[in-house]
Amino acid sequence: NEVVSFNHVGKTYTGGTVALSDFHLSVKEGEFLSFLGPSGCGKSTALRMVAGLGEATDGDVSVFNKKPKEMIQQTNDIAFVFQDANLLPWRNVLDNVLLPLELRGGNKKESKQTALRVLEMVGLKDHLKSYPRQLSGGMKMRVSIARALAAKPRMLLMDEPFGALDEITRQTLQMELLDIWQQENMTVLFVTHNVYEAVFLSSRIAVMSARPGRLSSLIDIDLPYP
Ligand code: ADP
Ligand code: ADP
Repeated sequence: NEVVSFNHVGKTYTGGTVALSDFHLSVKEGEFLSFLGPSGCGKSTALRMVAGLGEATDGDVSVFNKKPKEMIQQTNDIAFVFQDANLLPWRNVLDNVLLPLELRGGNKKESKQTALRVLEMVGLKDHLKSYPRQLSGGMKMRVSIARALAAKPRMLLMDEPFGALDEITRQTLQMELLDIWQQENMTVLFVTHNVYEAVFLSSRIAVMSARPGRLSSLIDIDLPYP
């Protein structure tokens, strides 16, 4: 069951930087796929294309059998988590997580139940009323992940989400993310330049070469989890 396909994709930015070249990849439903490679190899460019942020200059990308531009308008199937948690400072934890549900205009009571459920999953149910400035970096990232999950996405896109965290916090969040991935049965696309992180988290690694961004190999990993 293919959810994403990159079909010989090339991306040249205005100014001439070639970020991707003949990039070819197919992602199946339920995979945890990491894009791994050195800085500048086009990982973020590839991930952003899946979200419809930036178009291919050669070839094409399809997501759930649609072009990403159609996706954005039609569905809420994709959620994006960035390295910076991007929380609204004037909203508390609960209200930050409620935001996408409010934007969608859902039933208030159900929205609150959903928000509480995902905040419990990330271990923040005792911090509902805290504001972002009162939280550590790891807690902010948990809020950001909860906010993404609240929208019940079929696919979670993450761009170096743990890059700014200390090692212990990073490891804790990696384990939590693995639990969530298994519980929610989602496809996860994950960008990292950290080999250990890719090996620990992924069911499959797309190794990219430096320049221009090409796929150099695909590694399948049998996770030691049920
Ligand atoms: P990575 O995520 O692997 O670090 P990026 O996808 O961010 O790589 O960038 C790939 C290449 O494209 C880099 O050389 C980067 O400088 C360039 N690049 C990325 N975004 C833009 C942009 N908006 N305009 C011009 N060049 C860009
Ligand atoms: P990452 O590699 O994690 O994507 P970057 O620092 O490379 O982070 O990029 C951050 C932002 O700056 C992105 O939106 C990217 O498109 C933009 N960017 C990166 N490189 C360039 C560049 N050479 N010219 C213009 N914009 C760029």
